[in-house]
Amino acid sequence: MSENVTESERKNSISDDRLFFQLSWRLTIRYLMIYLIAGSIWIGFSDAALYALFNDKQMLNTVSMLKGWFFMIVSCLAFWAMLRKRQSLWSSALDRLELQQKNNAEQQRILEESRQRATQADKLREQQMYYDMLTHLPNRNYLEREFTKRQHSQKLGLVYLDIDDFRYINDRHGYETGNLIIKLIADTIHSNLREADLAIRIGADEFALLIDPVDSYESLTACVERLRSKLTKSWPVAGDNIYISISFGASIWPEHGNTVEELIQNAELAMMFAKSRGKDEFYLYSDNIREQAVKHADTLAQLRRAVENEEFTVYYQPQIRLSDGQIRGVEALVRWNHPERGLVFPGDFIEAAEESGLIIPMGNQVLRQVAAQRRRWIEQGICPGIISVNISGRRFKHNNLLEVIKPIIEGEGSDTGKLEIELTETVMLENAENAIRIINEIRMNNISFALDDFGSGYASLNYLSRLPVDLLKIDMSFIHNINVNEHNQIIVKTLIELAHGLGMQVIAEGIEYGIQAEILRGLGCDFGQGYLYSRPVPAQELENMLSRGTWS
Ligand code: C2E
Ligand code: CA
Ligand code: CA
Repeated sequence: MSENVTESERKNSISDDRLFFQLSWRLTIRYLMIYLIAGSIWIGFSDAALYALFNDKQMLNTVSMLKGWFFMIVSCLAFWAMLRKRQSLWSSALDRLELQQKNNAEQQRILEESRQRATQADKLREQQMYYDMLTHLPNRNYLEREFTKRQHSQKLGLVYLDIDDFRYINDRHGYETGNLIIKLIADTIHSNLREADLAIRIGADEFALLIDPVDSYESLTACVERLRSKLTKSWPVAGDNIYISISFGASIWPEHGNTVEELIQNAELAMMFAKSRGKDEFYLYSDNIREQAVKHADTLAQLRRAVENEEFTVYYQPQIRLSDGQIRGVEALVRWNHPERGLVFPGDFIEAAEESGLIIPMGNQVLRQVAAQRRRWIEQGICPGIISVNISGRRFKHNNLLEVIKPIIEGEGSDTGKLEIELTETVMLENAENAIRIINEIRMNNISFALDDFGSGYASLNYLSRLPVDLLKIDMSFIHNINVNEHNQIIVKTLIELAHGLGMQVIAEGIEYGIQAEILRGLGCDFGQGYLYSRPVPAQELENMLSRGTWS
């Protein structure tokens, strides 16, 4: 019989056994009756036959004894056969019983196993439903459940945290290091909270805290600041020291929302506001923050439409050689031809474009327009010299800058000979090794590089010496008061000497007065750019100056 007997098969075999035993019992009685009758008939008839056949008494005794023996042997054989049959029935019934017991035990084991598996699955489901797998902190679902339980008479605080520039940390150090940092931050948050407070991971590099209770704005701020001081620092991770800063936003129940969703949303808005204010800050939600967020969302929507409708246009500002007024080239500066607001300047939209990634298609449109304009100038016999284009950090970090530039420039029928890319020092220094590699690769294609806004950031001179750039653009903050501030003159002089020493040329930005140009020329500055020569203007307005080739 197969070991894997099903329940119905097992039941059938039991009732078969029972039926068989009932039948065989009846059969036994019938056999006994037959034996009794047949035996009586046999004894009666055989004795009568013997008396009739044998007269000799001794002979009769002998045959009668033999007949008795014969009867006994036949009876024994019949009993033996019957007992054998019984025995085999009992032993097969016992076999079946044993098998049934085995099956029962096996089924019990399987049942127990599936019960255990179900409990484990329940636990796992609970884990996945309410906990974050990476940090083992509770998740948003848990917070929602917990929040409903904790709505009592006292105020609750919801703090939203987001690690600053986490994408950059991931890009630079790899996902494993990124995950390590998330775990470290999670542990630190968890171990620095009061017992009643709750830390959860919202997702990626975002966390939330439920502060229970909040006595006052001041106590909430103090709690956040205490945590901030523990989190904002250099973390030794994977053999590196990685500086982490975090932007915080907070909202309070019930005044900033009744549901946990509303509170999270508002705390997140406050956190985004902190990001827009230069990151590494803490803001408490307010109506003003909501207004700004709505405005920001509106700008993003409009920008998206602007990219689709190609509402961007390019203005050009000349760059002049200070020694003789010759035109070095022009800097291409984007403008947004807004259908209602008119001409919008980059200061009002570049940051939003960068943040949303729209800077990439916008930058492509600028490059295409620059290439087309250059071809038009060449066809008209006008030489614009070097055309400088500003490239955003995001586009630069895309790694395929050259692949993107080349077809755009060539597609518009212009070679890449006189193109210059302007990058800020922050972009170049964020990942210096990678930046140097990309710049070198692009420079091999006859495209030069300018280091924009030099001096406005924190460029180390050590890195400056290694950056393969052709032109250093001194930030206009040094130029504005160069005619009255001697310190600035000294700084600018040193920068010019340093750049020349490193084989770079220097251009001063933001020259508005003749005296500033005079001083810069005296300090050995090569080129100048600013309102003194021309504001950024549409291409046509520059054509007279470009045809002359000089500013007078
Ligand atoms: P930037 O690259 O430093 O450009 C120079 C800015 O200084 C321009 O502002 C220009 O109009 C202004 N400027 C020039 N001369 C003077 C002057 O004598 N005095 C004063 N006060 N300002 C002067 P704009 O056009 O508003 O551009 C602002 C920034 O937007 C640029 O700074 C650049 O970082 C960014 N930007 C402009 N066009 C593009 C673009 O096509 N792509 C990207 N990614 N960024 C761009
Ligand atoms: Ca620039
Ligand atoms: Ca600049």
